[in-house]
Amino acid sequence: MTRRLRLWLQRRRHPGRYARLSQLLHALHLKRSELLQRQRADFDAIARYAAAHADYYARRYASAMRHAGRRLLPEDLPILEKSDVIAHRDELLARGLSPHDTRLGHTGGSTGSPLSFYYDDAKHELMLAGMMRGFMLSGWRPGQKVLYLWGASRDVASGGIFGGPQHHWLSSEMTVAAVEYSEQRLAGWVRLIRRWRPVLLYGYASALSELARFVIDSGCAPPTGLLGVYSTAEVLHEEQRTLMERAFSCKVFNQYGCREVPNIAWECRHGNMHVFSDMVQLESVADPSGDRLLVTSLTDRVMPFIRYALGDSGRLIEGECPCGLGFPLMQMDLCRNNDLVRTADGRRLHPAFFNRLMYGLNQVSQYQWVQTGPDSLQLRLVSRERLSPETVDAIGAAVRDGVGPQMTLEIAYLDAIPRTTAGKHRFVIGLSDAGMAARR
Ligand SMILES: [Zn+2]
Repeated sequence: MTRRLRLWLQRRRHPGRYARLSQLLHALHLKRSELLQRQRADFDAIARYAAAHADYYARRYASAMRHAGRRLLPEDLPILEKSDVIAHRDELLARGLSPHDTRLGHTGGSTGSPLSFYYDDAKHELMLAGMMRGFMLSGWRPGQKVLYLWGASRDVASGGIFGGPQHHWLSSEMTVAAVEYSEQRLAGWVRLIRRWRPVLLYGYASALSELARFVIDSGCAPPTGLLGVYSTAEVLHEEQRTLMERAFSCKVFNQYGCREVPNIAWECRHGNMHVFSDMVQLESVADPSGDRLLVTSLTDRVMPFIRYALGDSGRLIEGECPCGLGFPLMQMDLCRNNDLVRTADGRRLHPAFFNRLMYGLNQVSQYQWVQTGPDSLQLRLVSRERLSPETVDAIGAAVRDGVGPQMTLEIAYLDAIPRTTAGKHRFVIGLSDAGMAARR
């Protein structure tokens, strides 16, 4: 089966998606200034549309709209918090749309409470077209095979974001549920990659790096013919990237987006994250806990997301990329706000501190640090054997040294570490500000 035949079949099956893709590809040739001009106009248009069509925005934007003879700018408008989306979901839906026109999507609790949102087929198709454009930055071409290691079993079970489990021999994509995996399943994935020969892998940093570790540890012949591995939905740590590049002999690309607002930024072959500024407007606003990222979908007219606080931190970077794309550059911070461990004296510790303490513990296949109180930490382990008393003492001492002399450490051995409802693995779960205050 050639790529061309698969492509021809896909174009016939999804004409809307391919039409959107051609429009999106056109933007790859635009200059930075042209993209910026277009983005400003799109922002103004979506904000006015939201104020005119959704009760929530009509109310919140009333004063901004009163003196809006000029083009609306982000700073004219209030921030949309996740708590607002949870409390006012139905008011955020554009008027005139019935539940029959839309579906309800769900997102997990990696950065807070689970949240649901309305979307329609057009948003879904645009998301997939945007992903195809993102993949093309690696050299991938439509019709080439992609294997998705996607956590949420509902996606695989109900034909959600990436389509159903029924794999057809003509299809160029396949999804395997990566919610949980044993060594046996990892071995099965390696066999699947060898047999089906995808060109790209796409999935959670944790699942992909576990697969990489398995390939290296088991000494099995590594998969060949991969053009790239795409890591998404979780923070991608440098050691995970290195491990994957070693195991799969290809470049690893980071991708940033969420279910509510997909296709925020994609990494190019030069290792830079480009904001897809024809689809979103990304802002970074200074906050005591870091630079908060706010995103606006420039295309979502079902349930507009405007200046939406994702719970991530990062910043926009000046300058051009050697790849020549006009899309602006951004940098993610290596953690999400609630992945920080907070100390009694008000400091916040980055997950990298805790990840580093696990180096060399090869018997441990999974771990998770959980802050259970202002002065208590639990280290959850899935391990072939228990840590030696000396190792436990050394970790305890490093924690007291780095976090605080009162910090106590409890080690818990588990059969499996539960994932978030969306199937993500979290290395560190911090105590929320509210929890910290309540426990004092
Ligand atoms: Zn680039």
